Amino acid sequence: MVTFDKAKLRQQLTPLQYDVCINKGTERPFTGEYWDNHETGVYACVICGQPLFASGTKYDSRTGWPSFWAPIQKETVREEEDRSLFMRRTEVECSKCGSHLGHVFEDGPKPTGLRYCINSASLRFHPE
Ligand code: FE
Repeated sequence: MVTFDKAKLRQQLTPLQYDVCINKGTERPFTGEYWDNHETGVYACVICGQPLFASGTKYDSRTGWPSFWAPIQKETVREEEDRSLFMRRTEVECSKCGSHLGHVFEDGPKPTGLRYCINSASLRFHPE
């Protein structure tokens, strides 16, 4: 388990970023910075900077959250079972720092059939 320097992160992150990344919160749909971003580039972890998702795997899921059918590499994310809110979901975290990113569902497009439903607040986009 990763331990964050929470005092430092409170200064570095916005309150929304902190709530999503550290408290495993969820931004409201259609409000984030990237759900409708169609630029070419890479989405990195907002806390540690590890590249997580590439624009080539991003697609319009109509959910209001940035959605990808795969991470850049399998090893860049860690998946954990999440039984909160009376649901059984699979949580997705940054494999390097443990920051909460979102959830993965099995209703995505080809070729993987996966939908990585990620909060904009946990990402930082780097245009190519
Ligand atoms: Fe990270």
